[in-house]
Amino acid sequence: MDIEAFRKAGYQAIDRICDYYYSLQNRPVVPSVQPGYLLDALPDSPPEQGEDFTVIADDYQKYILPGLTHWQHPSFFAYFPTACTFEGILGDLYSTSTANPGFNWLASPACTELEMVVMDWSAKLLGLSEHFLHSSGKGGGVIQTTASELALVVVVAARERYLRIHPDAKADELVIYTTTQTHSLGVKAGLVFGMECRALEVKAEDAYALRGATLKSALEEDEKRGKRPFILVATVGTTSSGAIDRLDEIGQVSEDYPSLWIHVDAAWAGVTLACPEYRGTAQLENINAYATSFGTNFHKWGLVNFDAALLWVKDRKDLTDALDVTPEFLRTKQGDAGAVVDFRNWHLGLGRRFRSLKVWFVLRSYGVEGFRNYIRQGIKLNEHFTSLIRASLDFSLVTAPSFALTVFRLTPAGASLTGSELNELNRAFYARLSSRHDIMLTQTVLNGVFCIRFAVGAARTQQEHIDTAWDLLQQEGAVAVQEYMQ
Ligand code: PLP
Repeated sequence: MDIEAFRKAGYQAIDRICDYYYSLQNRPVVPSVQPGYLLDALPDSPPEQGEDFTVIADDYQKYILPGLTHWQHPSFFAYFPTACTFEGILGDLYSTSTANPGFNWLASPACTELEMVVMDWSAKLLGLSEHFLHSSGKGGGVIQTTASELALVVVVAARERYLRIHPDAKADELVIYTTTQTHSLGVKAGLVFGMECRALEVKAEDAYALRGATLKSALEEDEKRGKRPFILVATVGTTSSGAIDRLDEIGQVSEDYPSLWIHVDAAWAGVTLACPEYRGTAQLENINAYATSFGTNFHKWGLVNFDAALLWVKDRKDLTDALDVTPEFLRTKQGDAGAVVDFRNWHLGLGRRFRSLKVWFVLRSYGVEGFRNYIRQGIKLNEHFTSLIRASLDFSLVTAPSFALTVFRLTPAGASLTGSELNELNRAFYARLSSRHDIMLTQTVLNGVFCIRFAVGAARTQQEHIDTAWDLLQQEGAVAVQEYMQ
């Protein structure tokens, strides 16, 4: 493809993307294709001769679009939202157009310095303390691919730091602490590094939050059996129910364990810190006081399209001491002089995408107020949904709503069902919901209770979509109850 053909195909692509967004509301959220539909439709080898791009672009419309789940659909309430803004799309387009793997400052000075700028901007947006800023000269932030990969970076840095402080410790004595509500990233890090990962119990009466006393007794017990607690992954906004671990109590316990690294995973809820009124709930003060590292995904509820997992540390040396591998061919005058940040030493890979551009576009285009209003809108819509559940005789909240997430279940009025019968009924109810294509929600189990999650935050969701969802939940709920009672 030459430049003029690219111009033409590019204009067509933008036109089609705009048409897609105009048509989104009328599309199903979940595609109706069957497993293997695309494998059957496409040839099993690449073409011998290159094809005309207009045919290829048409095949995207014909084969790929029908097999997509539309995460940007206003009736998408599953998992957590994944952000997509036109500013973000343009950021990705410009960034990919120069194909810059800016791993060193010299490999593309703009990539490195823009990332430093937007990470400090984002830290200020969220109210993080100056210890997390590049401008402190000690801390700083870096954009990773996902919260799970970010956790691998943090765990390897914590391990190296612990082994430096305790040279007598053996790697197989190290323990990662999570809770039963921590995202799979904790267990995955344990698998990758071959380390024990201990999931601490949380209680329904504590709203599934980790308490200091639980942590303290686990640390004491493990030390007695010769184990080495070296990292705790605490969560602000768990995946299942949006639980917020008690960082105040955790912080106090950690004062007796100075080499315990505390990573706060706020992959979804971290962006609420942008709004001063939610900083107390999201425990900003304790994050600033006790977190060794903090991560949030702007690609979830933060307006920046996938991927943009933001990680901050109070001491950048913790990352570079663990991850700096500099063969001769990667040396530069500026790096040798210590005059620049070389982000290749802050993550697992070498080359890296120029992600800061889309963050820059979004933050400038929305501004702090626009960003805050978007978060507030999601929470307001969720409050509306919650008020409908509260007013209903047939549904109830399983735990208090968290920001823009509600966890609820069907509890039909007048039916006296046991715990396992209610679980059975709700599984049947969820099976009905998940066979629909016009809405998408996901399920979870909280300490044995099967429940349904309703996550607001897709950029195009309005109150009318919440009301339509509520009508549909009531209809499906009534049928599920009727069928179950027969
Ligand atoms: N942490 C929490 C609390 C999450 O909810 C999720 C995903 O939903 C993750 C981590 C994992 O995010 P990623 O897909 O970026 O690894």
